Amino acid sequence: MDWFENIKKSDPEVFDAIKNEVARQRNGLEMIPSENFTSISVLEALGSVMTNKYSEGYAGKRYYGGNEYVDVIERLAVERAKKLFAVPHANVQPYSGSPANLAVYLALCKPGDTIMGLNLTDGGHLTHGWKTSVSGQIFKSVPYHVKKDGYIDIDEARKLAQESKPKLIWIGATAYTRELPFEDFAQIANDVGAYLVADISHISGLIVSGVHKSPAKHAHLITTTTHKTLRGPRGAMIMVTDKGVEKDPALPGKIDSTIFPGLQGGPHDSAVAGIAIALLEASKPSFREYGVQIVNNSKALAAELMRNGITLVTGGTDNHMLLIDLTGFGKGTGVFVQDALGKAGITVNKNTIPNEPSSPFYPSGIRLGTPALTTMGMKEDDMKKVGAMIARVINDVKGYQLPESKEERAAYLEKFRRELDERQEIKDVRKEVLDLCSNFTLYPQIKI
Ligand SMILES: *Cc1c(COP(=O)(O)O)cnc(C)c1O
Repeated sequence: MDWFENIKKSDPEVFDAIKNEVARQRNGLEMIPSENFTSISVLEALGSVMTNKYSEGYAGKRYYGGNEYVDVIERLAVERAKKLFAVPHANVQPYSGSPANLAVYLALCKPGDTIMGLNLTDGGHLTHGWKTSVSGQIFKSVPYHVKKDGYIDIDEARKLAQESKPKLIWIGATAYTRELPFEDFAQIANDVGAYLVADISHISGLIVSGVHKSPAKHAHLITTTTHKTLRGPRGAMIMVTDKGVEKDPALPGKIDSTIFPGLQGGPHDSAVAGIAIALLEASKPSFREYGVQIVNNSKALAAELMRNGITLVTGGTDNHMLLIDLTGFGKGTGVFVQDALGKAGITVNKNTIPNEPSSPFYPSGIRLGTPALTTMGMKEDDMKKVGAMIARVINDVKGYQLPESKEERAAYLEKFRRELDERQEIKDVRKEVLDLCSNFTLYPQIKI
């Protein structure tokens, strides 16, 4: 069977967009560090009949009939998660990372309680108390920060925790290139009686591979998305650790009842099937090699960028991610570099950096990473080529400066984007990207 042959006949407009997306994923360098390419088996599960079923409740305790096979799959996912992350309880039903984190709040806190998380512009996630997220609106959010050198300011976090006595402390990040200090935060949380929740969304695959330490002995709860380095379908898990059960034996039950019926209805069983498959894949020796290669690639890329005069926040990386500091080229220049790299076929995202001199919409940094390229099969030699190409693109657009006046910005950006189409260096890099991608075959099974 040809993939999508039925969509092609029934809905040519959607078919065309999917076809173009397959080509885009094949012919470019996907370097957004929160993205990855799932296995073909995970894709099959997502396109399976599991999507037809309602299964509110948990395995063996469902509200609807006909769940005997859904139960098999959910039990497999739960048991595999418990084994891989060395925890006594796992819930695999959260629709995604944000609802998983919301469920943690609802299980542990009351509106108005104090919570702590890494500040968004310092690398923290929206759901850890940022003002535009409900987490920053219904709770009293006391953010901690990174130091001038880009590392988490543990002393500040300790002081803030002692002053504000939070109910819950998050340790986790969405733009942080160093190992997370789980032990220090366990100490801080223990001293003030707070729950410590490790949000390992970005690094769960690295933890399974043994290239990042695990929070299982330090945190009470662990949340993770399943679609980042873990390389599964879009979804999330909430896990309760032994330490969490010790602090509150009712915690597993509280988490389960907060996910359902507290926050969600029926689980997405096709995603749960994909999670079960991804967890089995992650338990294989080849996945350990994958995690090691992600970090080796990340370090090789960092070295090549720095050799080309590009500044990195913290001066390097311990994980799958790099943060380029563009302040040397001008404040708020992330948008120019993101667009120019995009034109060359290198997908990254503009991001704030510590002590951001501009704004989250016009930040002065670029966040990029190696999980997806590593899945394609790229190694250190390829990273050298990629690093050199990125440096060439940055240097090619370094003359562009974000206008101070907000009114002038739209016109300036429009002019920049027009000129981008004509820049020879960008065209040359685009060709080299296509050459590099042609050495790898993404989803050879998908003929489209
Ligand atoms: C990605 C991410 C989330 C949210 O996941 P979504 O699936 O996008 O809702 C939460 N926390 C962290 C640290 C993340 O990186």
